[in-house]
Amino acid sequence: MDIGSLLFLLLILVAVIYIICRPFYRKTTLPVLETETDALDDYQKEYDQVIKCIRELEFEAKLRKISDEDQALLTEEYQLHAAVLLGLIEKTTQSQKNSHDVSENSQVDHLITDRKAKRRERFAGFCANCKTTLQKSDRFCPKCGKTTGVLNS
Ligand SMILES: [Zn+2]
Repeated sequence: MDIGSLLFLLLILVAVIYIICRPFYRKTTLPVLETETDALDDYQKEYDQVIKCIRELEFEAKLRKISDEDQALLTEEYQLHAAVLLGLIEKTTQSQKNSHDVSENSQVDHLITDRKAKRRERFAGFCANCKTTLQKSDRFCPKCGKTTGVLNS
């Protein structure tokens, strides 16, 4: 077998593998429009698939269906893909954590604003004698006991 037909065979092999794996390769180039949880799920599924492909290559090489060279080449390619996916999984997990923190923070912020608003609602001024903050319900200053002049409505 000369080098030309070898290259031709290799080309056909690559084409066949490309066609077989195309659905999941195409998916990675699509923009991620789903929620991050779905994306994470997809990355993990894809990662499993890549690992499976590497194992299949090993198996095929053992059965002499493909050459060791082809196996090494393709395995390298898949490992690269797996590494990229691992990076994406890590990044997505991280950003999920961050967004979780943000939502927790905003909940706390909401509680604080709520509290402040309620306090402002009840605020009735300051004591003329000692400058203590007075509430609408206070008839007498809680600190010095002076009549506040605040009338309960
Ligand atoms: Zn007072």
